[in-house]
Amino acid sequence: MAGETNSYFDVTIIGGGPTGLFAAFYAGMRDLKTKIIEAAPFLGGKLPYYSEKVLYDVGGIEAITARDLTMQLEKQARTFEPAIAYSQLIEKMERLEDGTFHLISNTGETHSTRTILLAIGYGTLVSNKLEVPNAERYEGSHLHYGAKSVDRFRGKRVLVSGGGDSAVDWALALASIAKYVGLVHRRDEFRAHEGNVAQLRNTAVHLMTSSRIKEIHGSDGQMESVTIEHLDKKGITSLDVDEIVVCHGAKPDLGEIKKWGLKIERDRIVVDAWMQTSAEGIFAAGDVVDYPGKLPGLIAGGFTEGPAAINRIKAYLNPRQEVRPIWSTDHAKLLAIHNES
Ligand SMILES: Cc1cc2nc3c(=O)[nH]c(=O)nc-3n(C[C@H](O)[C@H](O)[C@H](O)COP(=O)(O)OP(=O)(O)OC[C@H]3O[C@@H](n4cnc5c(N)ncnc54)[C@H](O)[C@@H]3O)c2cc1C
Repeated sequence: MAGETNSYFDVTIIGGGPTGLFAAFYAGMRDLKTKIIEAAPFLGGKLPYYSEKVLYDVGGIEAITARDLTMQLEKQARTFEPAIAYSQLIEKMERLEDGTFHLISNTGETHSTRTILLAIGYGTLVSNKLEVPNAERYEGSHLHYGAKSVDRFRGKRVLVSGGGDSAVDWALALASIAKYVGLVHRRDEFRAHEGNVAQLRNTAVHLMTSSRIKEIHGSDGQMESVTIEHLDKKGITSLDVDEIVVCHGAKPDLGEIKKWGLKIERDRIVVDAWMQTSAEGIFAAGDVVDYPGKLPGLIAGGFTEGPAAINRIKAYLNPRQEVRPIWSTDHAKLLAIHNES
């Protein structure tokens, strides 16, 4: 965590993507005590996931890689030294009697704030589940949607389910350490990188295409075997396995924030022209919002919605003061910072 953290913040920005980062800079420009909370251990939102791609539609920048844009955004966001909390997924919000908020993360940490700006993109990714009876019984013990290390599978009989890059990567990583590795995929071809599929065919991994897991068998919480259904040959076989790794992709989800009582339509938070949500003191901007005329999935949209929200937050916190947008060219602190460097 960077900067001061243990007191009330004027605004807490949830999400450290392009929208949240630019909003943090703008909040600093407006003298708001600001905190950013990001679920990932790094900033940039979606940008780090396509870091080599070149963007041509960021105003004033002819061409820039997503990696360089992330670096520039982060540098700019740090201008006024906001507090930054990493690896904290905000789940709960409590409104106190005085109108301020407590935000509680999945790690149990509480963050106190006067206002909230949700810049959470499409939310976080939630793995698509294996749709087999009893699957939940083994989830977290012998049925996995990811694992910190492949080491826990050493010497085990492991079945990987899926046909994309992640499934093939898992099968390759397990090939040299597991006792047995099977890869089951419902289609007749893998959708993964060709080179990796070719590499996989040279290992001992047992490939089962046009097939799917039909049933899981075991007792006392121990997985013993699975029934595999062969969709083309219309037959079934039984396979002894200790562990299953499911790689069926993931879909974005707003998670616990859906329970905050905000007006949400088609997985987007509904805001007015000031980016105010249906709840007083809670604002939203970027990919997560919807309003008439919203251009979805554009970084430039978040760059105007963030400042709109921050200007409104300034007015919300200072109801008696007239609040107008300000110019950076006249900003004494910015002039001082840039004249120094
Ligand atoms: C391959 C690809 C190419 C693209 N190319 C372009 C392009 O050329 N031009 C363009 O304008 N746009 C492009 N986009 C879209 C652009 O990346 C998004 O519009 C932009 O990232 C949205 O920014 P955001 O800050 O609103 O959300 P995001 O970038 O999604 O950031 C949201 C952040 O919030 C965090 N978060 C979510 N929930 C929580 C929570 N509960 N607690 C804490 N943190 C949370 C997430 O971890 C994430 O870091 C592209 C997108 C993709 C996938």
